[in-house]
This record gives sequence, C-alpha cells and structure tokens, in this order.
Amino acid sequence: PTAEMQALDAAHHMHPFTHGADLGKKGARIITRADGVWLTDSEGHRILDGMAGLWCVNVGYGRQELVDAATRQMSELPFYNTFFQTSHLPAIKLAERLAQLAPGDLNHVFFAGSGSEANDTNLRMVRTYWELKGQPSKKAVISRWNAYHGSSVGSGSLGGMKGMHAQGGMPIPDIHHIDQPNWWAEGGDMSPEEFGLARARLLEEKILELGPENVAAFIAEPVQGAGGVIIPPETYWPEISRILKEYGILLIADEVICGFGRTGNWFGSQTMGIEPDIMTIAKGLSSGYLPIGGSIVSSEIAQVIGDAEFNHGYTYSGHPVAAAVALENLRILDEDGIVDAVRDRTGPYLQKKFKGLTEHPLVGEATIVGMMGSIALTPDKDSRAAFEAESGTVGYICRERCFANDLVMRHVGDRMIISPPLVISEAEIDTLIERAWTSLDECHAE
Ligand code: PLP
Repeated sequence: PTAEMQALDAAHHMHPFTHGADLGKKGARIITRADGVWLTDSEGHRILDGMAGLWCVNVGYGRQELVDAATRQMSELPFYNTFFQTSHLPAIKLAERLAQLAPGDLNHVFFAGSGSEANDTNLRMVRTYWELKGQPSKKAVISRWNAYHGSSVGSGSLGGMKGMHAQGGMPIPDIHHIDQPNWWAEGGDMSPEEFGLARARLLEEKILELGPENVAAFIAEPVQGAGGVIIPPETYWPEISRILKEYGILLIADEVICGFGRTGNWFGSQTMGIEPDIMTIAKGLSSGYLPIGGSIVSSEIAQVIGDAEFNHGYTYSGHPVAAAVALENLRILDEDGIVDAVRDRTGPYLQKKFKGLTEHPLVGEATIVGMMGSIALTPDKDSRAAFEAESGTVGYICRERCFANDLVMRHVGDRMIISPPLVISEAEIDTLIERAWTSLDECHAE
C-alpha cells in the first residue's frame, strides 16, 4: 500500500534536494512504471512526464532495445575497467560514435559515471593541460551564478547555486562566478541585445581582474537548464567566444542537459554556434537508462594530456553495460529521426503551443528552444515584477497544482520548466499544454 511505502521511505531514505520534513508530512509520490512519456504511480495515476525524469529520458520510457542491449552486454562482459591499458568494445565503439557526432575537432572521450564526475574530470583536466603546457598559474575557472554543474565538491563549486555553496564548504578555491544573462529578471531598461553584450563583458572584466595568465577556463551550459532555462540573448555567445579567443582561455560547454537532441541539434553548442574545447555529457547519452557521463575533448587537449599520464579515473569509466546502452540509445536517436523531429516537426509544434501560455494572466515570458522551455510567473507582465511572497512560493504552488493534475513540471524560483521526452507526440503536447493551463488557472485562483 502507498501509505506503507511512504512511511518506509520517510523513515529510511534520504532524498536529494528534498526537505525531510516535507516527506514526513506528505509522503513521496511513488512511481511504479513508465512507458513513452507516461509515468504510473502507486495509486494508478497516469502522469505526463513534462521533465523526462531529470531532463534525461530523451528516447522515452519502455524501450525494449535498450533492455536488450543491457542484457546482451551483461551476459557477455558485465564489467571490466579501462585502467592500465585495457579496453573493451562497448567503450571503444561509444567513443568512436561520440567523436563522429561531436562538432569541430572534439574527438576524444574520457568516460565518467555521471555529469558531476565528468565536470570534476574537466576541472582537473584543464588545470593539468596548462601545467603540462608550462603555464601552471592558469588555475582559475570562471563559471556563472545559478549554473548547475553537479553535486560533488568540485562540480558543486563550479556550479553557482548559492544554496549549495552555503552547505559543506563550497566553493573550493580558484573558482569564480559572474552573473547569468537572464534578461527577463535582470535586464531592466536594456534591450535583450544590449543586455546580452553587457553580461558577456562581465567575463572580460573578471578575466582582467584575475589576470588572463591565471585563468584556465570558462564553463557554461549553452542554455542554462536547472537555473531556470535561461536562453541567452543572441549577442551573448558571440561576444563570449570573442573574449575567450582574445585571452586564450578554454571553453567547457556543459551539455549534460543540452546534449543529445534537447535543443534540436545533437549538441546545444551547435544550436548556440559555439566551439568548445571540452563538452560535458551525461543524462541523454543513455536516456537515463543507466548512469554514464563523460568529457568529449579536443585533439589538442587529448594530445597534451595523453603525452603524460593523467592520474585520474573512475571504476566505472566506460562501464561496458552503460556504454552498450548509450550506443544503442544514440542509434535510436539517429535512426528514429528524434533529433530531426525536435528541430523540424514536434519541436516547433511544442514551441508554438508553449509560447501561447503568455496569454495566461500569470505568465510573463515563455521562452523555449528545441524541447526545453520555461515560463516566468509574474503579478505584472508589463513591469516584469516579482511576487511579494518569497521567491519560489508561487512556483511551488504551481508545481503542486501540476502534480495534482497529473503533469510533472519543475519550478525554479517562480519559473516553471518543461523538458519532456523528445518522442512526445502532438496529441501529448496538447495534453501537456492543457494541463499546464488548468494548473496555472488554479494557481492564479489560489
Ligand atoms: N551539468 C548539468 C548542466 C546538469 O544539469 C547536471 C544535472 O542536472 C549535472 C551537470 C550533473 O549531472 P549528474 O547529476 O549526472 O551528476
């Protein structure tokens, strides 16, 4: 029975990013099955998953091909490591496929078990790169406030979540943050274009303050996800790219959310027109079916690092079962035309419907690229005002209304987010928008 599971859950299970007292009061919603874009809970509700789990189930739930790939690999070789000059076919084939898909000369892969681990790798890799190049002073990494790059001490420090920094000794030294390009909330009287340039130039200011000879890299998501789906103004990335080139600083594009079709291309870097030196990948790489992440690295970095021994690695780097599942997942994304659909068919359909939510009295901006979008809730559209209640209060109510209406949407402060499985159909998009609208109505009334 649900109540029994909830009581056990509250008694013994510590949840990530969850207030323990809330679990005691209300109990977790227990998900038992899933198929396509639909979750089923222990009470038999069919819930539309507008978040693809945690932005990751790109090919949808219930893919037998992925089960088969895992089963085959489990029987053949369930585990072997890739340390000390050993390798295996799943890791080799996956690295080759990723090198084909990745833009520019990003053609080497260092595997990890998650996005957090991959960003820890990146932090050590860029510093090691500069050490090996004879420039050991280049240690600083610049990131952005509100960014999410993971929860380990390294990746959590790279992230810019102040609530995380307040706990447990983060950020570690030599990590610096600049403001994000959130025009809706912070643009004031500037046009989006002016604001994009102004926010990009904060990077230049920070580099000059630290001294370019001390800066190793800038890390950013092509489109900031967990920070609220902040799509930068068009002027932002070209200016960031100019600055990084001018001062000889590496770019790490965190593609953990944006990668594998989410923005309508294989990678968000392609959608935003940027040329990173390293890309962080995870989530959609295996559609979340098994944990796997990694760093796709330029030939130049791979060569410098490869000419020495990089004293770094994880037991599960290139785990054969996870790698086999990821490879099959990439085949499905490609052969089922899923990335193309996000760019040309269901993506534009969702975008049009989602933007229609601005007709709702509670909604200011509705912003979306590919299949990741957010709406800003506001009491006054014209002034783009925030609510008097503490930030997140209205967003939380709206998220709970969505839940009650069998729709998963997430809230970040008073922004509501969607990031559905990329296989969502037009009819399912209609249902998503109807349920969102009903939930907004209820939230407005409350
Ligand atoms: N980077 C980004 C952009 C993310 O959104 C996340 C997770 O949400 C991570 C890194 C961390 O990945 P993981 O949870 O697999 O460690």
